[in-house]
Amino acid sequence: VEGTDDYDHPGATINNMRLLDAIVKKCGFRPDHIKSPQTKASEVIHELEEERDLDVKPRPPPKPSELVPRCPIVTVMGHVDHGKTTLLDALRNTSVVEQEFGGITQHIGAFSVKLSNSTQTVTFLDTPGHAAFSAMRSRGAHVTDIVVLVVAAEDGVMEQTKESIRYANEAKVPIIVAINKCDKPEANIPNTKKGLWTQGIALEEFGGEVQSVCISALKKTGLDTLVETILTQAELMQLKADPKGLVEGVVVEARTDPARGRLCTAIIQRGTLRKGSFLVAGRAWARVRGMFNEQGQVIDEAPPGVPAEIIGWRELPSAGDLILECETETKALQAVRYREQQDMKKKMEIDEIAIQQKMEEHLKEYKQELEKKRALGLRRRIRKKGVLRPKETIERTDPELAVVVKADVDGSLEAILDVLETYHSPQCRLDIVHYGVGNIVESDVNLAFPFGAVIYAFNVRCPEDVKKLAKETKTEIKTFNIIYRLVEDLKVQLTERLPLAE
Ligand code: GDP
Repeated sequence: VEGTDDYDHPGATINNMRLLDAIVKKCGFRPDHIKSPQTKASEVIHELEEERDLDVKPRPPPKPSELVPRCPIVTVMGHVDHGKTTLLDALRNTSVVEQEFGGITQHIGAFSVKLSNSTQTVTFLDTPGHAAFSAMRSRGAHVTDIVVLVVAAEDGVMEQTKESIRYANEAKVPIIVAINKCDKPEANIPNTKKGLWTQGIALEEFGGEVQSVCISALKKTGLDTLVETILTQAELMQLKADPKGLVEGVVVEARTDPARGRLCTAIIQRGTLRKGSFLVAGRAWARVRGMFNEQGQVIDEAPPGVPAEIIGWRELPSAGDLILECETETKALQAVRYREQQDMKKKMEIDEIAIQQKMEEHLKEYKQELEKKRALGLRRRIRKKGVLRPKETIERTDPELAVVVKADVDGSLEAILDVLETYHSPQCRLDIVHYGVGNIVESDVNLAFPFGAVIYAFNVRCPEDVKKLAKETKTEIKTFNIIYRLVEDLKVQLTERLPLAE
């Protein structure tokens, strides 16, 4: 297969990094498809086919002719106490007052603001701060088009202001600066602007491209200018989306409502969401029973960019999950089941690695212990021959109980080892000479014998020939089928070995 395109040859293994890179790019393989250098290309292709048939994936990108303008999605960031929450509250309430229905705005994770003299809207994510921003990004969700950086004019640039700038820059999201608390007598706008300039924020008045607006979130001044500035920036960015076909979106927030059940707020990125659609997000699925805006009003459809609270989820999705629409309920269920299986597989692989590592650690410790004992035995023999004086040669050994542990499955072995770990006492050491899964075998006895170890067996058999060997070597085998009894017995054995009180 090297250097050729013959990756679907049944015998081809992926052992050439350059080729692997090419395959990943060309065929849509992901690094997690390649379990080992011996992974066969045909296996990955099979997995991809399975994924395509059983899972649901985003559609290929739309054609430019299918795109229509959409509203910008904004995240408010900045230093603590600089006024992010006050600004979001002010903006949210402005939009309520302007609605002819009035109503009470609830926090649903996102809301839309409309300028009084225009039809254009801006969608704000209602969770301020870079923690929310990075949580979404860590799940691969790219929802934010513009960051509004709130800086209090009294404090200027602070630690989290710098962090927010870094986050926005890393995500390549343009910034609009809202210089807040301009109503305060201590407000020092020139100083704040200078501070921003030193952080690489090229403000427009200094010849750069970043817009800044002086506002007071508390007194609700400058908010219209801020929204206008956002709309101007959005126009420059020519934000567009495809409003047709199967829906794609992102979960912004999810919760369980005592009256309405499981619901999530989503921002639709493609297609137009309507009642009755089947959605999958992570391992959750929904048949959309209804949609609401932030004022709790029923909406019939949610086009790209508009936040919607969706009811009808059978399980609760998580913030940042990608929402994908399926044609049928069967397809949605199948995708969720497939994802569950994949997650289970991954978890089992991780568990296996952890158990393997633990066993390797124990083995290493065991080998070191063995070395020490060999050295000690050697010195004892030398002492018997009278070569060395006893005091110098014998290392002080505390009483100890040496054991070999055998169990039926990894799970019970792990459980026993976990309990044993807690039974080390300064007076009597517990020495796990060897452990493993499966019936007792000759090698277990051979390992136990030199240490005078007791073999503790849980839910496993001991063949007759092994019993005979144990008898010959005076190795004790204790079998149990209740972990608790095994541990109790160990405790008794440890206590018996404790030195008598003087
Ligand atoms: P956050 O931590 O960034 O969300 O900040 P908050 O919105 O909780 O505001 C912190 C404090 O600053 C609160 O006591 C607000 O009332 C106050 N505050 C916010 N904006 C303004 C403003 O424009 N002017 C004044 N004077 N106080 C403000």
